[in-house]
Amino acid sequence: MKRALITGVTGQDGAYLSQFLLGRGYEVYGLLRRSASSDVVAERLRWLGIQGDVQLIDGNLTDMSSLIRALQEVKPDEVYNLGAQSFVKASWNQPLLTGGVTALGAGNLLEAVRLICPQARFYQASSSEMYGKIQEKVQDENTPFYPRSPYAVAKLYAHWLTVNYRESFGLHASSGILFNHESPLRGIEFVTRKITDGVARIKLGKATELRMGNLEATRDWGHARDYVQGMWLMLQQEEPDDYVLCTGRTTSVRDFCRMAFAHVGLDWEQYVITDASFLRPAEVDVLIGSAAKAKRKLGWVPETSLEQMVAEMVEADLKRHTDRP
Ligand code: GDP
Repeated sequence: MKRALITGVTGQDGAYLSQFLLGRGYEVYGLLRRSASSDVVAERLRWLGIQGDVQLIDGNLTDMSSLIRALQEVKPDEVYNLGAQSFVKASWNQPLLTGGVTALGAGNLLEAVRLICPQARFYQASSSEMYGKIQEKVQDENTPFYPRSPYAVAKLYAHWLTVNYRESFGLHASSGILFNHESPLRGIEFVTRKITDGVARIKLGKATELRMGNLEATRDWGHARDYVQGMWLMLQQEEPDDYVLCTGRTTSVRDFCRMAFAHVGLDWEQYVITDASFLRPAEVDVLIGSAAKAKRKLGWVPETSLEQMVAEMVEADLKRHTDRP
């Protein structure tokens, strides 16, 4: 039976990846950062009905001794580094913490893997935010990076360190450059969930408006459930490599609002108000990727359309607010 260790196991991708790996017969271990509110940490695993099936191990990406101990205990075949300070906007307020966790944390984990279990296969969660101020209309593995936030700078460090550990030490280390991926388990601070939660509140009479930032930004949004399969596929290849995962379609925040409100029969323009406090010091205006390499080499294609995802997310938020009035 294969063993996987996931950092960021309590996040959206950690939950879907755990579910996917459990379904393939893996023993799944998750690194759990100590939190003041330990009663809510497993909420996403609970949502998927797998909270009892993932074995949680105390640890923190910023503490290499805890990573060494976790790797010694788990003896993983595969390590997925999904842990990060992952919210772009917060990275301007906490740039050094973001660097400590998202950049140096990945370094700690790579170094611990090199020391303790160099045969293990390693996945680094890289991000389309690394393209930032885009240098090519459609971004792929060969597009130069131009990060536009402390978050993106930190992710770029982790990305290049992964490439370097592969090339220098022969680790089976792959980096997935994933474009935005969403789901009902997306954190509420991210724009898609903020919108679908707002739609549910307004539809149920719990709110009358939704305050938003830049409506012009466009993103290539896919479904997290599809993307975690791509992560796994990368680690099943004989040779480690870097791959873009995306849908190849870009949609504005404005159109996402339109679609989500329309799903419950409302006109978004009556409820959405722009509020400068949600703007960022620097913006990533447009992201749209090509996953041609992942399709060719991994046989990976995203299965969920944006329309299906918006419907699933709005329905989930309606249910959440109805169940917990
Ligand atoms: P990101 O691509 O990782 O930054 O993911 P987000 O979901 O946080 O943001 C996606 C885009 O939506 C960015 O260009 C934001 O500026 C834009 N956006 C507009 N209004 C909002 C808002 O109220 N909250 C968030 N999180 N993003 C917003």
